[in-house]
Amino acid sequence: MVTAAALILSIAAGPAVAREARAFPPLDLFAGNPKLRGTLRHVAIPLPRPRPAEAPKAEEPEAAEKPSAGEPGKTAEPAPPQPSACRLALTEEIAIAPSIPDIKGPGGCGGEDLVRLEAVVLPDKRKVAVKPAAVLRCKMATAIADWIRSDIVPIAAKLGSQLSDLDNFDSYECRGRNRVAGAQLSEHGRANALDVRAFKLVGGKSIYLTDRTVAREVRESVLHSACARFSTVLGPGSDWYHEDHIHLDVSERRNNYRICQWNVWDPLPQVAPLLPAERPAEAPPREVAAKSDAAQKPEDAKSDQEEAEEDKPAPAKPKKPTKKRR
Ligand SMILES: [Zn+2]
Repeated sequence: MVTAAALILSIAAGPAVAREARAFPPLDLFAGNPKLRGTLRHVAIPLPRPRPAEAPKAEEPEAAEKPSAGEPGKTAEPAPPQPSACRLALTEEIAIAPSIPDIKGPGGCGGEDLVRLEAVVLPDKRKVAVKPAAVLRCKMATAIADWIRSDIVPIAAKLGSQLSDLDNFDSYECRGRNRVAGAQLSEHGRANALDVRAFKLVGGKSIYLTDRTVAREVRESVLHSACARFSTVLGPGSDWYHEDHIHLDVSERRNNYRICQWNVWDPLPQVAPLLPAERPAEAPPREVAAKSDAAQKPEDAKSDQEEAEEDKPAPAKPKKPTKKRR
């Protein structure tokens, strides 16, 4: 009706009115007729206005429905993130290391691009098991795999043996450094670190990296290879938290600053004069020895219980529990 009325009036009034009519169709047209104007206003004005308002609303749900309707046909889950270059490079030729979901823990703990390093695959297809499997960032897992393949296998070969397992003492764990509450977040909390205690050889023998009775040459070879590959290497003599394992991580510091602190102790350590000598069978009763040697060898005065707890030779200072580590 409005269009028809406008058309009639535009014919009667000429082009100028027609332009006005297009801009304000009913208002000007029926200005002289209150009754008609009232009727037309209610019909004509509300109708065009809701339509444009409704149109986008109606389109939005449709637009939203279309992709959701299309998704089930293609992929039910959101598209997985693109694998990292590290992930692509860490193939099953190098390691058995399935990807695991990102971890977002408290206090900055966690990480992305994580893998569960179950074994390192050697060029001859043999596998060196990581026991227990280590949760690490891909970059750290790759560093471990490369280290085993390129450095540790030849060291074992020099011993006339083959690697069987890596003794994983700790990998991802949300904690402060050395397990000190409130301390700076450990690289273990970022899945960037691995504590290695030993390498097990085929046949059952293990090389404990902090065992003073293991040939110095072997331990030094491991030390030098580790410090060439990892930005942090902490072992015996570093801070008393690493007397029974080696901490490795790939944390990035300014100017590529690296930490390599691992003293390869001698079997009879000259640097630890307080180490108690082995008691000969014919030694006098302990009480007597403790009194006479107390000034020179305070550790002799320790209780049997304390000595029993320290089953390995200890350096000068009393050793902290081994669970406290970086
Ligand atoms: Zn550690």
